[in-house]
Amino acid sequence: MVPIPVFWTKYTATVRARNLKVVPCENCSTEYLYILEREGSGIGTSVYALNDAGAADHAKAAADDTLQSVLENDFDPVPCPVCGHYQRYMFPKLMETKGMGVLAVKVMLIVGGCLAALGALDLRAGESARRTWNTELGEVPCSSWRD
Ligand SMILES: [Zn+2]
Repeated sequence: MVPIPVFWTKYTATVRARNLKVVPCENCSTEYLYILEREGSGIGTSVYALNDAGAADHAKAAADDTLQSVLENDFDPVPCPVCGHYQRYMFPKLMETKGMGVLAVKVMLIVGGCLAALGALDLRAGESARRTWNTELGEVPCSSWRD
């Protein structure tokens, strides 16, 4: 087997841009703006140095395409400046950026709420079981017993 040497040059381009995002608030009728800043990167490869200029151009074009797509579709979690409301579509990103501490507190609150609800249901179930038992024995229910 004869080894065939293959060499190539890899070009990387990074571009950065800003875009104004318009957000209509779901809570009040305000429309507000914020600046979204993102970075896009692209890669071009020239095998045997046959197309160095083309690879560099491809890297730049890919970076521009990526950046354009990100600027159109991405967003930052920015609250409404009038009412402070975060738009519904921003919630997943808001959870990402707040870190694990806030997430852990929220999970604990939800679990605590569920346990409290289960406890309340259990108390009610016990109460109705007691009432049933009392009526089976022929006792008068507490509410009419007082009258
Ligand atoms: Zn608002």
